Amino acid sequence: MMDKKRRIVIALGGNALGNTLPEQMTAVKITARAIVDLIQEDCEVIVAHGNGPQVGMVNNAMLALTHEDPEQPNTPLSVCVAMSQAYIGYDLQNALREELLNRNITNIPVATMITQVRVDADDPAFEKPSKPIGKFVSAEQAKFMKKSFNYDMIEDSGRGYRRVVASPKPAEIVEIDTIRTMVDAGNLVIACGGGGIPVIREGNHLKGASAVIDKDFASCLLAKELDADYLIILTAVEQVALNFGTPDEKWLSEVSIDEAKQYISEGHFAPGSMLPKVQAAVDFAESKPGRTALITLLEKSRDAIQGKTGTTFHL
Ligand code: ADP
Ligand code: MG
Repeated sequence: MMDKKRRIVIALGGNALGNTLPEQMTAVKITARAIVDLIQEDCEVIVAHGNGPQVGMVNNAMLALTHEDPEQPNTPLSVCVAMSQAYIGYDLQNALREELLNRNITNIPVATMITQVRVDADDPAFEKPSKPIGKFVSAEQAKFMKKSFNYDMIEDSGRGYRRVVASPKPAEIVEIDTIRTMVDAGNLVIACGGGGIPVIREGNHLKGASAVIDKDFASCLLAKELDADYLIILTAVEQVALNFGTPDEKWLSEVSIDEAKQYISEGHFAPGSMLPKVQAAVDFAESKPGRTALITLLEKSRDAIQGKTGTTFHL
């Protein structure tokens, strides 16, 4: 009897995609190699990813358009997320297809699913927008953006003003049945890009929300919905640390759920960067016995799945 393949949801962070168009095109080649390495380890892979720099770039470009042509209304953030999803999906699926063909793997079609993720209109995150997006602007520009577009603007650590948006929790992946069908049929699927396009339910209508969903939480929900064996969060560090960046720094190899919760309460993980990853890892690992979460560096994903490195979370 053939062993069931291990099903893995991979969440790609900023370093897997780069900050600019040319950077992304180069980065996805390295990313594609790491992903196809896992496929050759007999894993079934589903790819999710972030979109921080890209959604900022699209948002800035669309904002510039309103200055150029007063007839152009401002582009909703949900549309900017959709644009970033399609653009990143294009680069990823292009690079993945090529890498598969380079290794003579011809039976795995690659496709990106444009994904809407429902959020709750009552999510408390809408009351305190916290996620900075787009470029730094002057106090004067910030005032203009507040007045013209009703943006929430904050002063960001002496570097100027930035727009902040809400980061609500993902409640439901709207296209999950389609994603599951594609994955079950053996496709390599890219989904929930940039955390998904945030939408709020209004009867049968899904209304785009002015928010950016954390990709770590969206990937966790995707992994649970697809009954994955692993959630692998690939980021810029090989392992998670206690006392990160201090002389007492201690890198972690294996963490139980109870230990992880303890470390979270002791404030070891920075909000907005490592904290959502550890929270997502804990959420996934405790959702069902046999589920494992892993945080590591993109280039180390094969070593990590073989148990050689990374930080592993399990019950
Ligand atoms: P991504 O784009 O992959 O989501 P982030 O920059 O949001 O990446 O988060 C990863 C970063 O979190 C690491 O590069 C590291 O600088 C930072 N970090 C904060 N706390 C920790 C910690 N306790 N252990 C390891 N890295 C940490
Ligand atoms: Mg991040």
